[in-house]
Formats: sequence, structure tokens, C-alpha cells
Amino acid sequence: MVRKTAGQNETPLLEIKELQTGFKIGKNYYNAVEKVSLKVDRRKIVGIVGESGCGKSVMSLSVMQLLPQGIGKVRGGEIKFEGRNLEKLSEREMNKIRGKDISMIFQEPMTALNPVFTIGYQIEEVLLNHEKIDKKEARKKSIALLKSVGIPRPESIVEEYPHQLSGGMRQRVMIAMAIACQPKLLIADEPTTALDVTVQAQILELLKDIQEVNDMAIIMITHDLGVVSEICDEVIVMYAGKIVERTDVMELFDNPKHPYTQLLMNAIPKMDEEVETLATIEGLVPSIQKMPQVGCRFANRCPKAMPECTQITPALAEDEPGHEVACILYENSKQPERVGDR
Ligand code: SF4
Repeated sequence: MVRKTAGQNETPLLEIKELQTGFKIGKNYYNAVEKVSLKVDRRKIVGIVGESGCGKSVMSLSVMQLLPQGIGKVRGGEIKFEGRNLEKLSEREMNKIRGKDISMIFQEPMTALNPVFTIGYQIEEVLLNHEKIDKKEARKKSIALLKSVGIPRPESIVEEYPHQLSGGMRQRVMIAMAIACQPKLLIADEPTTALDVTVQAQILELLKDIQEVNDMAIIMITHDLGVVSEICDEVIVMYAGKIVERTDVMELFDNPKHPYTQLLMNAIPKMDEEVETLATIEGLVPSIQKMPQVGCRFANRCPKAMPECTQITPALAEDEPGHEVACILYENSKQPERVGDR
């Protein structure tokens, strides 16, 4: 199927410019997201990939303005949704956007679903909060939504509680809640990580179908490049709070440029190769308090590191049309970091 593309002059659905999000530790703030810029066009699926601690979830919580109060803070940059600066909205205005225009699904639905309310009650609450409908209509819509996400016997499931459902079914309920008001943007944070492989494939298929039917954009946050290959149009690879590579999904798999992306690719199990142990990436993402201020943040784990890697901070720059990378193995990355880059 040919996807519709955003018109050249269309305002991006989401535009993040130079975002810096920090966390307070002791008296100081440390940035978990450092000057990240990206755009998400309408109807696109953008994958954000990286290990735990690379800043991908913090970025989505910044968009939703759900950072832990008093600890997490957007410290710089802009987040615009349909041209409106989300940082400047009141909590009331933001509440109208959350759940209606932008919604989110999480890895573990039990943390998002309330165990003491029925499934029906929880979906209806979303609908009643955002739409001018009565309870009877909300019940009807809830049943239709559950049906649309492949839940069998939705009429009786609305009376059940989250613990009565399997993990896969709970994730489908979460998706039903997230799409209840037909959001323009769905942020899916590791939505299939807690599920077994077959259920994972079903949920990805479901998300793809819903995206096409509802014409929405999806930000798919994952550590799994396999998930990205299944569903995404564009991929952003993050490491230690920064974007290290960005391109479309086919190009990334054909021609991964950043050493970190190449290692992530090597870690994907291959069907046609028998191996005793899976490839891993040695070492850990540096903690936000110990982030190198100069040089490449991946230098202490990079198999291709050179002495200059700790002296030059690589800029995210186009190496080929439509393919950006931040690594000094590529000439354009040696230029000073540009402000306001996409
Ligand atoms: Fe590796 Fe150097 Fe490139 Fe960083 S800049 S990814 S350390 S080669």
C-alpha cells in the first residue's frame, strides 16, 4: 500500500527543536535529553530506537508533559504540536490535548489500567472526558472500540477487570483507550516488550492497521530494531540523550552508518544463522551525571573509536541525502553542531 505523504507546506504534526530535558539530582539538573530536534509528519510512523537510558522515553514524557513534578523539567527548546507550543499551554489546555489529540500506550498495561475499575468504565471515562456524549453512547462506543482492536466478546469484557485478561488482551484494551478519541498522534512506548513473540506480532499488525484506518501518526519507542523494521517509515537512533542517526527504515537496514546502529543490528538474532550466544554491546550508557561534555558519548564503547573521538563532539549531519549521522568517521559530522537542525 502506498502511504499518503505530508504536503510540502503542511505544518508538521509534531516539531521538537533543540529539546533539553533534565532531572534534578541533589541541587543540580542533569540533562537526559540534549538538544534533540525532530519532526513527525501526519500519518507517518517514526521509530525511536536505543537502549534503556538513551533518553527516548524521557522525550515522549516531555511531549506529554508528564515528567515527574519537581524532578524532571524541560530546560530548553520547543515542542510544537500543530504549530502550538505545548510548553506555553496551561494544564487545562494540555489536558484537552492529552488523550484526545495525543495519546500514549505503555509497555506494561497494568501500570496504566486501574485495577479497581472495569474495562468498560475506564474506556468510557476517556470518552466522557473528551466528547459530548452520554453514558449510554459511551458504553456503545467502548464495545465498538474493543471489537475494533480484536477483543472477542466485547459486550462481556466491558464488565471485567484488568486482572481477568491476558497480557496481550490488556495491551489491546490500552490501545482501544488510546485511540478512543481518534488521536492525531499516538506515542507507543515499548508497547510489545512485555509480550511473547506471537502476540507481539499481532499487536504490531493491529497498530499498523489502526494507523492506516485512522490516518494518525505514531512514534514507536523501542529498543528492538526488529519492531522498527515491521512498522516504521523513518528511524531515529538515540544514544545517551542525543540523536546519532536518522534516515528512512529501508536505508537504515541497508546502510547503517553509526557504529552504535551497526552494533544494534548485529544484536538482532538471524533466522539463518546458528549461534551459541547472541551479540551484545559491551559496557553501559553513561549515567546522566557522568555524561562526557566534549567528544562522542559512545567513545568508551565504540569498536571504531580513535583518539579524536574524545576531543571532537560529532554533529548530526547529512552524509547522504536523507541520511544523517553523528560520527566523525563521516566528514560532515566534524563541523560544529548546527543550531535548529531537524
Ligand atoms: Fe565511534 Fe568515534 Fe564515531 Fe563516536 S565519533 S561513534 S567513538 S568512531
